Order: sequence, then C-alpha cells, then structure tokens
Amino acid sequence: MQPSTPTPDSPSNTNPLLDFTGMPRFEDIKPEHVEPAIRGLIDENRALIERLTADPATPTWDGFVSPMDEAGERLGRAWGVVGHLHSVFDVPEWREAYNAMLPEISRFYAEVGQNLALFQKYKALHDSPEFATLSPVRQRILEHGLRDFRLSGAELPDEQKPRFQEIQEEQSQLAAKFSENLLDATNAHAEWITDEAGLAGIPDDARHAARAAAEAEGKDGWKFTLQMPSYLPVLQYADDRDLRARMYRAYATRASELGNPELDNGPLIGRILALRDEEARMLGYRNFAEVSLVPKMADTPEQVLGFLHDLAAKAKPFAEKDLEELKAFARAELGLDTLEPWDVAYASEKLRQARYAYSDQEVKQYFPEPKVLDGLFGVIRALYRVDILPDEAPTWDPDVHFFRIEKEGELVGHFYLDLHARSTKRGGAWMDSARSRHRNTWGSDTPVAYLVCNFPGPVAGKPATFTHDDVLTLFHECGHGLHHLLTQVDELAVSGIHGVEWDAVELPSQFMENFCWEWDVLQGMTAHADTGEPLPRALYDKMIAAKNFQSGMQTVRQLEFSMFDLRLHGEVDASAGPVPIERVMALLDEVRREVAVMIPPAWHRFPHSFSHIFAGGYAAGYYSYKWAEVLSADAFEAFEEAGAGRGSLLDPETGERFWREILAVGGSRPALDSFKAFRGREPRVDALLRHSGMVAQA
Ligand SMILES: [Zn+2]
Repeated sequence: MQPSTPTPDSPSNTNPLLDFTGMPRFEDIKPEHVEPAIRGLIDENRALIERLTADPATPTWDGFVSPMDEAGERLGRAWGVVGHLHSVFDVPEWREAYNAMLPEISRFYAEVGQNLALFQKYKALHDSPEFATLSPVRQRILEHGLRDFRLSGAELPDEQKPRFQEIQEEQSQLAAKFSENLLDATNAHAEWITDEAGLAGIPDDARHAARAAAEAEGKDGWKFTLQMPSYLPVLQYADDRDLRARMYRAYATRASELGNPELDNGPLIGRILALRDEEARMLGYRNFAEVSLVPKMADTPEQVLGFLHDLAAKAKPFAEKDLEELKAFARAELGLDTLEPWDVAYASEKLRQARYAYSDQEVKQYFPEPKVLDGLFGVIRALYRVDILPDEAPTWDPDVHFFRIEKEGELVGHFYLDLHARSTKRGGAWMDSARSRHRNTWGSDTPVAYLVCNFPGPVAGKPATFTHDDVLTLFHECGHGLHHLLTQVDELAVSGIHGVEWDAVELPSQFMENFCWEWDVLQGMTAHADTGEPLPRALYDKMIAAKNFQSGMQTVRQLEFSMFDLRLHGEVDASAGPVPIERVMALLDEVRREVAVMIPPAWHRFPHSFSHIFAGGYAAGYYSYKWAEVLSADAFEAFEEAGAGRGSLLDPETGERFWREILAVGGSRPALDSFKAFRGREPRVDALLRHSGMVAQA
C-alpha cells in the first residue's frame, strides 16, 4: 500500500499542519500554524456540511458519508497533532496555542453532533433502499452514528441546544485545566537533599538522576521531584521515614486546596460533575453513569456494580491477609509499630526482598532498553509474522524513535516511540492514533501510532534500564498499538481502536502483558547491564513466586477506584450545581469502608489527581480495566493451551487467529462476538482469578 497523495482540494501546503501527504512535519510545525490551519479545516468542514445538507436528494454512502469522513479525518489529524504536542511538549507557547483553539474545536464538534439536518441525512440513508445493500460493517457504522448523534444532543429541542453546546465546551476546558493544574502541581514541589547520609537506601540510578536534576539548576546536592521515576524510588527505598512522609504528603495533596490555591482541582471536580449530570438529564437519562454505558459492552450501572461487588467479595479476604502479613513483617523486622501509608511501598519492597530475596533494582539490571525492545519486537514477529524496522520521520524530540511494520515486504503501519520522562510531558503511558487505516477516494492510508511512556532515561552514558513494571507498561501500550496498527478494516469509523467498546478496548493491551511473565520470552529480552547475562532461572522463579505478591491489595485498590468512579457518576446528586468536594470525599470514604484494607489519611486528596475520570475520558468507565482483564486473561489462556506440551506459547497459529478475530476486526463488530469467534465460547472469570493467585483453598 502506498501513502496517500494530496487531495485535489487540499488547502495550500504552506502551512505544515495542512500537509497530509506523509507523517506530521514536527520540525516545521509551529504554534502560530495552529489557529489558521484548524480554523481553515473547521470552515472547510462547515461548508461541506452546508452543501450536503442543502442537497434535497436522498443521501448515498459515496456521495455523503465518504466526503464527510474524509473532511472529518483531516481536521481530526491536524488537531490530533496539536493535542499530541500539548501532551508531550507542554511548553508555554504550545499550551497557549492549544488552549486558544480548544473552545472553538469543542464548539464545532458539539455543533456537528447536534446538527439536526445532518442527523436527518444519516437517518434518511439508514431508511433508504441503499441501506440493505451496504455491508454489515457500513450498516453498523450508520447505526452507531445515529446513536452518537442522539448522545450529542441532536434530538434536543432547538432552544436547549445552545446550553448543551456550552456544557461541552466548558467540560473540555475544565478537563484541560485539570491536567495542567496536576502537571504544574507535580512540578512545583521538590525535595532537596544536601547531606549524602539523607540518601540512605535510595538506589544509585535514582541518586544519579537526582544529582543530575540538581546540577541542571546549577545547585549542589540532590533534587527529588514528584515525577514517578524520582518519587517512586524514594517511597520504595529511602530509609529516611520523614523524607518518605514529606514526599507522600506532597504527592497525595497535589492540585488540592492544601497546596497552591491556584492549582486546586477541587472546584473543577464539582463543576465537571454538575455539567455531566446536567448533560445526562437533558438527554433523558437519570445520571451520567447511564450515558457512559450506552456505547459500552456492559449494559447497566447495576450490572457493573454487581460485577465489582462480586470481585471485591472474592478479593478482600486475600487483601486482608496481604496487609496482615505486611504489618507483622514491618513490626518484627523494620521496627515500625504502626504501618503508615508512606511505609507501605517501603515495607512491601523489604518484605518482597525478604520473602523472595530479590529487589526491583536487581531485576532492573537485566532489562536494558535495547534488549527489551528486541524482545518485544521478537514476540510480535513470532506471533504475527511481521517485521519491525527502524524508519525516519520528523519528531518532536531528539529522543523519539520511529519504526515501520511490514508483512512479507508490504507496509502495514508506522509508530513513534517516546519512552523517557521529560518535564514537558504529561505523566503516565498511552497510545494514540496519528493516522488511522482507511480506504478512500484517492487510495489507502496505513495506520500510524504514538506510543508514549515516562520511563527513566539513560544515565551517565549507559542505556536506560527498566523495572519489570516498566516492561509490563511498554507491552501494554504496544498491545494498544498493535490493535491500531494491525487492523484490516478499511472503514475509518471502525478501523483499529475506533468504534471498539470502551470496556473491551483494554483486551489487546492487557493481553500483551502476559508475555512478560514467560520464561522463553524473558530469555530473549534480558541481558544484565554489566555482564550481558540473560535473566537467571533462579531469579525468574522468584519473580513468578512474587508475581501475585499483594495481588489481593492491588485488586481491591483498582476496585475502589472503579466503584468510586461509577457511584460518583451514578449516585451523587449534582442537579443543584457544583458538587461540594466534601461530598466527593465522603463517597470515597464510603467506598473505602466497603472494599479498601488500607485507609489513607484524611488529608489525602486522591480525586484531585484522578485524571482518568476528570481529564481522560474514563468517566463512569474506570471499571473497564477489570472488565477487560477478564477477557484478556481468558484470551491468553488460549495460548497457554496451545503451548501446553510444546514448550512455547508463542504459537503462530493461535497468534494468527487472535489477529484475525480480535485485532484485525477492530470496532467492525461487537467485542463479545469477536471474543467468541476467537475463543469459541463466552468469556469466563476463571483464568483471571487463577492468574492472580486468587483461588480459594478447598
Ligand atoms: Zn491501556
């Protein structure tokens, strides 16, 4: 497949944001290009919509849906680049350029979603004789399109539409502000250590990074920050309990009223909840949780809560046992009579070392970045018989790499890999689409993905080394990437991850994590940073034994977040305006009393940094992780079965079936159908419970 050539009606290519011929021109794109490009594309879309809706003839797929999709894709791609830069290169000029256009773009999308004339065109096509002749995939796209129109307020009475649109705009502004506050609050705090004795327990690479951070500011000593690669080693290893306590408190109160009032996310949360509630009521639902579930695999909030309560009941006894063991160990071995929240990571790491006699640091030496990437690419090659080759394209940072995927010499797709933490990058790890596979009037486009992580970078000229958790994260995001890149669907709306139910979208990503626990896979992706030795068997055995260490505690934590999110959007009355933050905290306490085993201090402000639901699209959908884990564990079991007795579960036949039935089809059919086509039956929870070591003793 060839990359697309410019469309005949393409606007002048002097603005690099409007050049869709190849990869985004990151080296040429400047903040001043944003406004004219995005405004021009919005105008182009508006003009097209006007022309198409004014045409009295019955709409056809080729004459109506295709041009709409193509114009929409161009705007989506250009704005996607801007949004991407806002996430990975959040310097003041880009932040300003992004925020300047955000209201306008939100307004445009809200306006399209509520355009009754457009809605009626789609409906007319849906009711026309052509509908029966369309492929099932196109029929599904139309049906989902009509559903999304309804959810965007298309059927609202005219006098209500402006208010609905305002709600959308304000929500996107609040979400952007929520993220910015969190990033700024994260960067605002630092712990300076001037006496080397204060570093006791902290591993060398974390010390080096802290030293380098101080040096960069021309200062003596060591600088620790609230960014994960700096924060986590302190909490896990620093012997100085006061340092841990200070860092813990600073981290836990980020973006709250306990810090800089200008960065307080509390009022934003109250406002976001009120707007979502208002939106839900306007659409005729009782609450936002119901709205959120409409396009998902799960049917009702009650069904999801039932699923969560059920898992919580199964996991809590294991979590209680985990905590008792930890407390007893901390008391006996560490002299910690009361286990404080800032002791949990520290004591857990010590307990794990005592019980399994290895540390994350020891394991980390076996995962230098180049070897890990080799291993990851090897797994993908073995499962799907594709090649991953280095390629060239402009990037937003010299640290970013670019690759192409080929199948039997034919181009399948491209991806960017941006692995290391930077102060201008928002935290976490994610995959995003730079371009989606589709066939259109001028040819075909292959998919392109961004894979972004926040791992520690190389220190003192040596390649970066990753913890096993980092490796799991990398495989996870790559799973999303493969879902996007290996799609065989030609229709934009359902190719790759598009149109996949939210609560099923984590299936391919969580599925990939399983391979990081396989002996033969690990042999191919480990080499000690100093000796080059692969991971020794004895250490591997300990890792496996430790795999489900505290899995009870981890499970109830995820269930706590999931239940809090769902009930916050389903039970908290926001009809009277912004929800007071005390009400939000009270609900969290209530959820914790049911599921949590370790209750954080009263000043902990977890909601203020819960970006997933307040800035990331997971509102009333955080449960999706657990939901999809059931699917992914069950899918992986197919590879375990195929590998049984053969020594390797990198079975190309099962891999080919997974590609064909799950990855290739994207959102072109219901996730449950795809799962059943792959597995030959309905999903079962058994594999997840077994993989997590939570099997009740008979
Ligand atoms: Zn994910």
